Amino acid sequence: MSLPQLTLYLAAPRGFCAGVDRAIKIVEMALEKWGAPVYVRHEIVHNKYVVDGLRAKGAVFVKELEDCPDDRPVIFSAHGVPKAVPAEAARREMVYVDATCPLVSKVHIEAERHHGNGLQMVMIGHDGHPETVGTMGQLPEGEVLLVETVADVATLTPRDPDQLAFITQTTLSVDDTADIVAALQARFPAIVGPHKEDICYATTNRQGAVKAMAPKADAMLVIGAPNSSNSKRLVEVGRAAGCQYAQLVQRAEDIDWRALEGIGSIGITAGASAPEVLVNEVIDAFRARFDVTVAQVETAQENVEFKVPRILREPAGA
Ligand code: SF4
Repeated sequence: MSLPQLTLYLAAPRGFCAGVDRAIKIVEMALEKWGAPVYVRHEIVHNKYVVDGLRAKGAVFVKELEDCPDDRPVIFSAHGVPKAVPAEAARREMVYVDATCPLVSKVHIEAERHHGNGLQMVMIGHDGHPETVGTMGQLPEGEVLLVETVADVATLTPRDPDQLAFITQTTLSVDDTADIVAALQARFPAIVGPHKEDICYATTNRQGAVKAMAPKADAMLVIGAPNSSNSKRLVEVGRAAGCQYAQLVQRAEDIDWRALEGIGSIGITAGASAPEVLVNEVIDAFRARFDVTVAQVETAQENVEFKVPRILREPAGA
């Protein structure tokens, strides 16, 4: 029996970004340098496949620093940590490596600079997401006000409406954030902000590729974790760009084949923390059921790379 024809659009760029790549490398190099176990505070990146792989090599994932012994190295995740965390690790004389993505650190520095200039911060982000917790935790309590939606802007009660600056989480929807920034600027004309927003190149590029791909595809799958902010945004961007059926899947086994019956095309992308091996797994699952023609939808090229911290480039004992 011949298989039904399917055009499989593959978004580019997709998957791993430079910050995720670096964070995983940091855990691997720490295991090589110090041996197992190496402790990791929080999921190093939001992907079960990646976390399980590192756990098998000897990484121990914990929620808080208090769950780590003093005498083993600890790594802080790519999302960033409140200032109190490295301070406590230093107080306990622990060896620690900060895997915070440099583009998140850049936002931390921005927040500190504005705070130093006497401005109160407004952070556009998702309540409870580790990156938001980490960024808000750079400044003393009450110095960062969180807004998640345009509606939240109306209820803000800053200390002085003329002494405000805004920062954003790096993995937000570019379009939704632009609306929130516009609402902030309308209510607080003196508010200071970054040139555009703090959304990183990887988030922007992955959303751009989805916007180009989604209108062509009968359905779209985003490979990523349910707690991955940038992956969830890709699903929303896909729907907003006209693809009615856009779903998040962690692995090929999550695909709802019944919902895809009768489609002639599918769009595939992956969040910044999803490895390419999972993309290939999903493509293979389609090949098993359809006569697949792959068409790449490329909207940007990336060549960003971040160095690992010096402590991992030095030999053990240094
Ligand atoms: S999504 Fe952006 S900010 Fe987050 S780790 Fe990747 S490059 Fe860094």
